[in-house]
Amino acid sequence: MTTTGRPVDFGARLRLEHDRGVCPIFAGYGCAAGALRALAPVWAGRTVFLLSTPAVGRLHGAAVRAALEAAAGRVVALEAPDGESAKSVDHAVRLWREMIVAGGKRDSVLVALGGGSVLDLGGFVAACFLRGIDFVHLPTTLLAQVDAAIGGKTGLDLPEAKNSVGAFRQPAAVVADTAWLETLPAREIRAGLQEVVKIAAVLDRGFFERLERELDAVVAGEPAARAAVIERAMALKVEVVEQDPYERDLRRLLNFGHTLGHALEAELGYQELLHGEAVAHGMLYAVRLARARGLDPTVASRIEQLVGRLGPPPLPALDASALLARMARDKKARESGLAWVLPEAVGRGGVHESVAPELVSSELARFLGLA
Ligand code: NAD
Repeated sequence: MTTTGRPVDFGARLRLEHDRGVCPIFAGYGCAAGALRALAPVWAGRTVFLLSTPAVGRLHGAAVRAALEAAAGRVVALEAPDGESAKSVDHAVRLWREMIVAGGKRDSVLVALGGGSVLDLGGFVAACFLRGIDFVHLPTTLLAQVDAAIGGKTGLDLPEAKNSVGAFRQPAAVVADTAWLETLPAREIRAGLQEVVKIAAVLDRGFFERLERELDAVVAGEPAARAAVIERAMALKVEVVEQDPYERDLRRLLNFGHTLGHALEAELGYQELLHGEAVAHGMLYAVRLARARGLDPTVASRIEQLVGRLGPPPLPALDASALLARMARDKKARESGLAWVLPEAVGRGGVHESVAPELVSSELARFLGLA
């Protein structure tokens, strides 16, 4: 996506520069039509595989398909189930086979339209198909717009552990139209906003304070407040990924809440809790760990309050030892043990590799109401 070595951003609002070029990121209310037109050079003359789900396809698929058909060589529809079950090896294999049969080539493009599950699956399928084809993310959940669509992490789940198979590969472009969120259930909006709280809590005090002031308007769907908060969260993620694309350092902060969060999701069979809700519980637990290691209680309670305002559902009864075993299998774990992202101040987090396993298990028992 470069001409004469100069990155092309197609007039997008944000851009993510990476080692293979630039990813233009279109964002804002009603931006999709213009963005898909601006990206015409990406579709021109190529086979475009449009991957979506029954629910998202029904709501938003026709307009996207029409826009692609106006510019692409041809459009081939692919489907994955709604929700986390899309992220399976079986679906990836099925899609690769469908793409081969449909005549996919090295210069085909995959467009993933949907939530983070479809984007993670679609990105992985594209990253491996014929050793890698271009893909474009069209995130339709709040969570996917602020987080999953940006940064090039693709992946699948195994029954044993979430996101345990995957690859880093940047999308060729991202189009995040906040008008798509109008059809999203309120519970999904609140869960997605937990990832916004996460990024603010570890990276940006001013943004955290803005959320404290504006969260209710954003939840209620006030278009300007919502679009502005989403764009700020996206911009923060872009900054982090540009500095640390392969998660060796700064990007690890974005795993705040995810160590226990992923274990909860897997332990509950990816059923009872939405991803953002599991992350919310993971953040509450990490705050508890941090408090036990001396975090200022007022900082702890501000984070707890903001997470709590988004109302994560209560946890069911859980087995602490099973969760500990899952956390040990987490993809973020190193041979030396788990690294914890803990809040250190409002808007500042740190990666801690010296958290005593005894503290992790005793605080987990208390967190689960078992001690
Ligand atoms: P999801 O993709 O499972 O979608 C949730 C539900 O919302 C689905 O039933 C979907 O059909 C429906 N939906 C999507 N868009 C809709 C719309 N506009 N209107 C109505 N319904 C709509 O959930 P999610 O929260 O978007 O994504 C969670 C996944 O993202 C997890 O697997 C998580 O691991 C992954 N993730 C990845 C990254 C990354 O960097 N790659 C970052 C964060 C999360």
